[in-house]
Amino acid sequence: MLPARSAEAHDLVPERVNSPYIHDPRTIMAYVNENYLKLAAGYLFPEIARRVSAFAAEKPELAKEIIRCGIGDVTEPLPASAVRAMHAANEELANRASFKGYGPGTGYESVRAAIAEGDFRSRGINITDDEIFLSDGSKGDCGNILEILGAGNRIAVTDPVYPAYVDANVMFGNTGAALAGGGYDGITYLPCTEANGFLADVPSASEATPDIIYLCSPNNPTGTVMDRARVEAWVAYALKHRAILFWDAAYESYNRSGAPKSIFEIDGARECAVEFRSFSKSGGFTGVRCGYTVMPKSLKAYTRAGDAVALHPLWTRRWNTRSNGVSYAVQRGAEALYTVEGKREVSALVDFYMENARILRDGCVKLGWKTWGGENAPYVWCKVPNGSDSWAFFERLLRDARVVTTPGAGFGRCGEGYFRISAFNSRANVEEVVRRLGSV
Ligand code: PLP
Repeated sequence: MLPARSAEAHDLVPERVNSPYIHDPRTIMAYVNENYLKLAAGYLFPEIARRVSAFAAEKPELAKEIIRCGIGDVTEPLPASAVRAMHAANEELANRASFKGYGPGTGYESVRAAIAEGDFRSRGINITDDEIFLSDGSKGDCGNILEILGAGNRIAVTDPVYPAYVDANVMFGNTGAALAGGGYDGITYLPCTEANGFLADVPSASEATPDIIYLCSPNNPTGTVMDRARVEAWVAYALKHRAILFWDAAYESYNRSGAPKSIFEIDGARECAVEFRSFSKSGGFTGVRCGYTVMPKSLKAYTRAGDAVALHPLWTRRWNTRSNGVSYAVQRGAEALYTVEGKREVSALVDFYMENARILRDGCVKLGWKTWGGENAPYVWCKVPNGSDSWAFFERLLRDARVVTTPGAGFGRCGEGYFRISAFNSRANVEEVVRRLGSV
């Protein structure tokens, strides 16, 4: 029997065509990637949007009062230095003498250099310019990277987890079917619970060893941050088992705790890790679209015959074959974030959202709610106060407070009983959210 599906995923149920060719193995026909048909439910955020729209249609008089703290999308305008750089880049394109056509698929040299210097070498981390690969954001990178590793790796993710990792692996064929209670067969889920402070523990010797492990710190959705000892334990584990860590640092600019921002702060990580970075939450680029991957030249994976193969040439080849890179103006905008002024503006933007997070966190604590995150991440993670399930509490907050949150169950089984509040909003809205939460 097919698992329960949302309206969106329902569209994926194959339509049976009354064709004389069907099931005739001798007939050539276009095949579908059946991995897509395994997807158990619509992607979390469209499902939230659907429920919010349904409420707005049912109560149009309340629709304008809805405050969205569900999806983690920024609200503040772009840093002025990025805007100026993008304007200037477009002017260059308007002139024959300075016009640019196709750029390098992996990013302009000056942009790769600004990133390698600004985010790594200036912090004592040994990353070369050509280990930086520009992209249109890290959501794509987290899935695209699978292309060079092929299908068949055993994937581990934390539970709860940013859903894009899992769905990309389902689409790619790295999982079995959806399981009745949530999740997919074939994926290793690393439980993150109150008991471990919502931080993934390295698997014990008796547990199956994954080949690829997605780690995200500061974490989406829990807002928790891994300290150095924990990150070192993960690097040691990956080196021992010849596994690869996918370190998602989309929120590193919010981590002011002294805990590692980059996996490459840890000795040995160049031999076992890839890092994903995004300008979405640092430079407000969710709509502009730019991020990058750090692929160290020393990272290797293995053929089935056991031969080690460097991944850097494969990732370079992948980019040059499958993309013509990020648009010129966007790259110039990203580069401007590394100027003195750009850095100051990014820092002010992050300060602004962090103050929002503090207000939200303090508000939840005052209500007596058990709360995590919000100190080094733009997300506050709360225990559902009355013991109801997280979708039921989502509906209650939507209906009684007109506040959109994200139900923890949408991030995985261990998210059940919790919910996430995003700090990406105006100050006035955040203050209003705290007032309204107090009234439910
Ligand atoms: N990784 C995590 C953990 C995220 O939460 C997000 C976006 O919310 C992304 C990656 C995607 O970022 P981008 O906008 O660069 O695609």
